[in-house]
Amino acid sequence: MNHELTLTDDIASELYSALDALKIWRIEDTLKALRRASGLAGQRKKLAEKEGLNAQANACWIANQYIETWRNYARCWQNLIEDSSDEVWASLQSGRVRIDNLDRLTGANDSRIGWLQKQLRYLDAAFGYNVFMSPEYEVIVAKCSICNQDVRSLDCTHIKGHLYAGEMAYTIIEECSVKSVSLVGNPANRMAVAKIANVAYQYPVLKRIRQELCSPLQSLKVLTPAKLVFGVSGNPGRNSPCPCGSLKKLKYCCLGEWYTTSALFEVTFEAVMTPSFFCTVPM
Ligand SMILES: [Zn+2]
Ligand SMILES: [Zn+2]
Repeated sequence: MNHELTLTDDIASELYSALDALKIWRIEDTLKALRRASGLAGQRKKLAEKEGLNAQANACWIANQYIETWRNYARCWQNLIEDSSDEVWASLQSGRVRIDNLDRLTGANDSRIGWLQKQLRYLDAAFGYNVFMSPEYEVIVAKCSICNQDVRSLDCTHIKGHLYAGEMAYTIIEECSVKSVSLVGNPANRMAVAKIANVAYQYPVLKRIRQELCSPLQSLKVLTPAKLVFGVSGNPGRNSPCPCGSLKKLKYCCLGEWYTTSALFEVTFEAVMTPSFFCTVPM
């Protein structure tokens, strides 16, 4: 079942003032307004839960995750300005996990979510990281986040990743034993970057974005060379995702373009979005 991202007037108005401030780099004001918006969504969710209005509680959860993604995005810029790239990466990955969930739950047809998802993906590409750590582990105790029962128990009917009365069901791994850690190019979660020891990372693409972007609401496009997208072992296959970030297969998209073989990045700066684009229901 698809959910919808709807913002009540009070939440939309806080979000509007947050994005109005973000547009001109007033990030402290942005974060304050987002905190207020998140507080409003939280209150509404509690009320809905109390009255047993499950659909309404789910809608509040969706709205709150959207606000929280904006918070992650604003923090990215705050940390970028302060030059702390590790913190930028952490906020960016939290934002990406949130927005991917929202995109899935809303059936991938909301342009407000789509914009944030792309923007975060391009910022991620600007780091140029291409090797990550991925653990192999054996689960010993795993419980359901909704009913707290063993996930293998037949009594637990919660589908992980679905919403239940304002909460997303997920698996809580309470005990596990780690068998090995692999280095991979395409992990499910990009949080753990494998960095080369004693190398001072320079982030030239990120620096260029920071210098030339006129507003955090300006749309970005970072074309990543395929070599970086797919790691060092050879060229991408025709059926691999396109390095331009379109989510299409390479053969249907940019096959033969320079960035499918080159080692250079290309950054383009596009339209500046208006705060109202993100606060009203898309047509
Ligand atoms: Zn359960
Ligand atoms: Zn493409």
